[in-house]
Amino acid sequence: MNPEAKIDTLIVGAGLAGCLLAWELIEHHGKSVLVIDNGNPSSASRVAAGLMNPVTGKRLVKTWELDQLLPAAVARYREIESKLNIQVYRPMRIRRYFNGPQEIELWKRRLDLHEYSPYLPGIPLPPNNSSLLSDPDGSFHIEHAGVLDTTTLLNALKQWLLDRSAYIEAHFDHDSLDIQPEFFQWKSYQADRVIFCEGFRSMYNPFFRELPFEPSKGEILKACGVRMDSEEINLRSKWIIPSHDLTTFSFGSTWEWTNLDEQPTEDAREQLMQWLMESLKNSSSLQVLEHRAGVRPSSKDRLPYLGEHPSLKNMHLFGGFSSKGSLYIPYLSKTFTGHIFEGSPLPPAVDIKRVIDRLR
Ligand SMILES: Cc1cc2nc3c(=O)[nH]c(=O)nc-3n(C[C@H](O)[C@H](O)[C@H](O)COP(=O)(O)OP(=O)(O)OC[C@H]3O[C@@H](n4cnc5c(N)ncnc54)[C@H](O)[C@@H]3O)c2cc1C
Repeated sequence: MNPEAKIDTLIVGAGLAGCLLAWELIEHHGKSVLVIDNGNPSSASRVAAGLMNPVTGKRLVKTWELDQLLPAAVARYREIESKLNIQVYRPMRIRRYFNGPQEIELWKRRLDLHEYSPYLPGIPLPPNNSSLLSDPDGSFHIEHAGVLDTTTLLNALKQWLLDRSAYIEAHFDHDSLDIQPEFFQWKSYQADRVIFCEGFRSMYNPFFRELPFEPSKGEILKACGVRMDSEEINLRSKWIIPSHDLTTFSFGSTWEWTNLDEQPTEDAREQLMQWLMESLKNSSSLQVLEHRAGVRPSSKDRLPYLGEHPSLKNMHLFGGFSSKGSLYIPYLSKTFTGHIFEGSPLPPAVDIKRVIDRLR
C-alpha cells in the first residue's frame, strides 16, 4: 500500500456538514482527511437559503441551544471568510408579520421570558404603508438573524480541500468499504475512522438507514422586479430575502414529504407565486430568474443525529440537520470532534443513542 494513502478520517459527503467538519478536523485538530462527494448540484446545502433565524415556527420558539449555536456559527463563518478571503455571512434582521390576534398574544408572552429578550425587541410595528407585504395585524422584529451564502462557502471550501489533495469527486458505494478491525479500507485509502455526512441520503446508508428519518423536499424561487427598500428579511409563513444590492430576492420555501426527487416542479412554482402575489402590495413587474429544489435531511424529531455506530467502532454519522444546518453545524462540528478525540459527552438531544435501538 502507498503510505501516503493513510489518513485519519474519511468523510462521505461535501455539503455544509462534511465541509465544515473537515475544516474543524484539519484546521483545529491537525488531522488528515479525505472528503468524497458525488458533486450533486441539488444537494440541500447548495439549494438552501442559508437563513439563520433565532425564533421560529408557529409557536415562536427559540432554537435549541441557540445561545451556543449562534455565536459559534458566526465566529466560524468569520474565521473562514478571513482565511479564504471570501464573504459569506450577512447579519440581518427579520420582520415577521403577525398572523392574527392569537399570534400577537403569543408574542407578548414571549416578551415576558428573559431568554427571548436579545432576539425580540418588544416594540410592535403597527400596520404600515411602507411595509413590503400587506400587514393588517402589524409586524415585529427578530434580531440577530443572518443569511449564509452557502454556494460561495461550499465552492471555496471545495477548492481549499482540493489544494490539500483532500477531496475526490466520486460516488461512494457502501459495499466498497472494507471494514477491518483496526481501520477502514476504501480503494487505496486506509482510514482510522469514517464519518458519514450524506444529507438525506443517510436514509439509504446500509449502516444507519434504520434511524427514523423524515426528509422533506423544498423549492425556492429567485426573482426581480419588486422594489425592496430595506435589507431586512420579510417573513409570514414563507420568507423573502433581498440580495445585498436589493435588485433581486429569493423566496420560499415549500414542504413535500413523498416526492424526494430534487427536481423543480410546476406545482411548487405556482404555490410560491400565489403566496407572493397575495402577500406583496405591488407585484406588477415580477420576473422569475431561478427555480431550485432540494431535500432537507430531517430526522423524525427535527434534531440532528450525531454518534458512533453501536457495533462498528469508529464509524460515525454526522447528519439530520433538518432545516437549520447553517446554525447547527459549526457548533456541533466542535462538539462532535471533542467527543471523538477527548471523550466529552454528546448532548443527549442530538446523540443517536436516543434512537439507537433501531440500529442493533
Ligand atoms: C429548499 C431548502 C431550503 C433550506 N433552507 C435552509 C435555510 O434557510 N437555513 C438553513 O440553515 N438550512 C436550510 N436548509 C437545510 C440545509 O440545507 C441543511 O440543513 C444542510 O445543508 C444539510 O447539509 P448536509 O451536508 O447534511 O447535507 P447535504 O447538503 O445534502 O450534503 C450531502 C452531500 O453528500 C453527497 N452524498 C450523499 N451520499 C453520497 C454518496 N454515497 N457518495 C458521494 N456523495 C454522497 C450529496 O450529494 C451531497 O453533496 C434548506 C434545505 C432545503 C432543501
